[in-house]
Amino acid sequence: MISVVISQAQGKNPAKQQLEAELVAALSSEADVKVSLVPHLYDLAAEHSATQFLRAIPGDVIVLSWLYPRAARWILDRQNIRGHEGISLLESKSDEDDDDESPARKNGNGHCEVPDARPLPNRKIYCLDLRDHSNASVYLDEIHRIASEASMPLVDLFSFLQTQPQAERLEKYLRPLDLLAEQKTATSLDDDDDAPANGEVVRRRWYPVIDYSRCTNCMECIDFCLFGVYGLDPLGSILVEQQDSCKKGCPACSRVCPANAIVFPGHKTPAIAGADGEVGDVKIDLSKLFGAPSAVELAARERDVELVRDGRDTVGLTIGIPKRLKDKPKKPRDELDDLIDSLDALEL
Ligand code: SF4
Ligand code: SF4
Repeated sequence: MISVVISQAQGKNPAKQQLEAELVAALSSEADVKVSLVPHLYDLAAEHSATQFLRAIPGDVIVLSWLYPRAARWILDRQNIRGHEGISLLESKSDEDDDDESPARKNGNGHCEVPDARPLPNRKIYCLDLRDHSNASVYLDEIHRIASEASMPLVDLFSFLQTQPQAERLEKYLRPLDLLAEQKTATSLDDDDDAPANGEVVRRRWYPVIDYSRCTNCMECIDFCLFGVYGLDPLGSILVEQQDSCKKGCPACSRVCPANAIVFPGHKTPAIAGADGEVGDVKIDLSKLFGAPSAVELAARERDVELVRDGRDTVGLTIGIPKRLKDKPKKPRDELDDLIDSLDALEL
């Protein structure tokens, strides 16, 4: 028996809803699969009943979401839905540029480098990106392959839920296909909000997700953010303490993280949204050639915009600028410096 969770897309895209519906329809008839439909993972609050339901699932889980697998995995981790990383054999968009072994990727081996007192359950969580393929059969084949290799004992999820105090509410998330259509029909909601059938409003959210397989606990994000989003746990590990204090649409701190460990799953740039690779993933920093702002300058500008929106003074590059840049010793000249000087001389 394996649990399959489908995390619904934000909004009302018919093609996405169709794919979700096809998967639910196909999996509902399979005896050794328990399929559940939950709102978009990123938007779920810690106390939402779908989050509680996800926490209560025992054994291996396959999570299909409209997110890069790295983003989905660490969103789940922070909600205390944890397990070892299950490896999917599906071709993923996030693998496409994954052909080097940059410093930022060397820690990305699935284990946490930052102190974490929570025990890691002995089960696997497989995260599949629903944006990778439009054909439901591709996902069904992969689910069958994973189910055949799953090693956890048979667990009757429905029986398990009956023992839980909130079983009645939780069961609403084990919804049959015909509830898909009524899921987003509530009135008096912002366009940004989705209302699941049980009446709990799910609002669009925006906050950083830390990939702890990359994070080195260097604290540059907490120094940079002037909006109180980051904090420390009792072990001194960085955490996103006030998720909803983050400024919607702003990805500034992801640009200053030296480990490329900060993910904004809703950002349009794949590397910021959780694709493998680096936020500033260019072999030569073209900004030096064409006078564009560096990633840190861009981050400082984005932060200033949010400070002004809050009625505060701008700080530019005077606060929270990465120590590695401030204390950087002067490098000896190299060929790139010569090239830049030559271009300057041409006065292009
Ligand atoms: S800046 Fe990046 S590596 Fe450093 S503590 Fe923050 S998330 Fe971790
Ligand atoms: S994006 Fe801006 S407000 Fe949000 S955590 Fe990063 S620095 Fe703070």
